[in-house]
Amino acid sequence: MVQDICSHRRRAEVTLLIRYIAFLLRDACRVDHDVDILIEGNRIAAIGSHLSAPAGAEIVEATGCAVIPGLINGHTHLYQNFLKGAGTGLCLTPWCDRVLFPMADVILRQQRAGNQRPAYLWSTLGAIEMIRGGTTCCQDLDVSMDTVFQAWADVGLRGVAAITLADAWIPPEVMVETERLKQSTLGYLERWHDPAGRITISLGPSAPFLCTDELLTWTRHTAEKYDLGIHIHVAETAHEVGDSLRDHGKRPLERLEALGLLGERLSAVHCVHVNDTEIELLARHGVTVVHCPKSNMKLADGVMPWPKLKAAGVPVALANDGCASNDLLDMWEEMRAAALLGSIGAGNPSAITPADVFRAATKGGARACRVDAGTLDPGRLADIAIVDLSGAHLRPIHDILQTLVFCARAADVRDVIIDGRVVMRQRQILTVDEAALVGEADGVGQELYARAQQSAVRR
Ligand SMILES: [Zn+2]
Repeated sequence: MVQDICSHRRRAEVTLLIRYIAFLLRDACRVDHDVDILIEGNRIAAIGSHLSAPAGAEIVEATGCAVIPGLINGHTHLYQNFLKGAGTGLCLTPWCDRVLFPMADVILRQQRAGNQRPAYLWSTLGAIEMIRGGTTCCQDLDVSMDTVFQAWADVGLRGVAAITLADAWIPPEVMVETERLKQSTLGYLERWHDPAGRITISLGPSAPFLCTDELLTWTRHTAEKYDLGIHIHVAETAHEVGDSLRDHGKRPLERLEALGLLGERLSAVHCVHVNDTEIELLARHGVTVVHCPKSNMKLADGVMPWPKLKAAGVPVALANDGCASNDLLDMWEEMRAAALLGSIGAGNPSAITPADVFRAATKGGARACRVDAGTLDPGRLADIAIVDLSGAHLRPIHDILQTLVFCARAADVRDVIIDGRVVMRQRQILTVDEAALVGEADGVGQELYARAQQSAVRR
């Protein structure tokens, strides 16, 4: 079904040996020492001591380093990269009105005029920031344009493009007519969805209150027909729950269950205001909850009841959310925020452990993104971050997992391998001209932000 128009579908087979690894974190509970990883093509071929390098293999030395599964940002909005540091001090609804909708209005005007360059630039900016911090994959609920995904192809990121679907609540100026929305979604699927490659499509009904029952039902049928993930914000605020009870006679997750959307293909972002019945629903249907602790704190949404989700066996992924409510795409900060918020939220410093947050940032993210990554094992995708442990802030090391979760910074990531290919070596991005693209993104982002300040679009 795919057309061969995208460079992300063509790659040479390479063999790569990462050797002399001081600490290999295969997952949150398995740490090996003094081992090597052999990568053939885009997958891990072997893990062991003193592996021999096949002829022609590229060698990466990891002496004194920790090697971890690439971090996975289970939910973001890359267009908000142009909104860093903007609109602080607002709760969700006024924040949408004053920060998001004006920028969406300006972006959509650019798109209608045929200018997709801004989307390429915000996506490039996000991809570079994430790779520099060891994030190898994200799920992006964005203002969908082909150039967003072309940027991932060029930079070398793995990405899941959650195509935004909404037909209620938002201002008419930023609403796309429903039939056109459905057709454009199928178009993105045709052009970009490649389960064997680095870019896949999921369906992103933005939130229950942003979608009619008809659109949610179409989403379910389309996801089942093409075997796609569904990605949705749910129960972020207490207002959302109250409005859902008023308008539909059901809480948001109960409404989704009634429409048949709960299941393993669903990743539910936030789930801050969920009661015990809804937690049982999430567990029974195998839904992955995507936790965005910094965003929840910035918008004063509340605290996701992670200890209760954990006790019920609900899988949890970790995410940055968009830069208008974070403001970084930094999974190290997110892990620390999740651990600290978990402690204060439960009034119990052992309620959420370093292993919980590391697992959520790796294996949980892989589940939310439906990618075969998140642990380091033979046969898995070779998405890997190499962390330099020489920094003073990392020494001494008593427990490598705790050192990584509580002390490591994005800047400690030395090399990043995605799909078996080195995309950052010794802190240098190898795939694109980083300085030129960041400079261009800075100029365009400032210009669009200035125009957004003039926009009168409100809900
Ligand atoms: Zn979000």
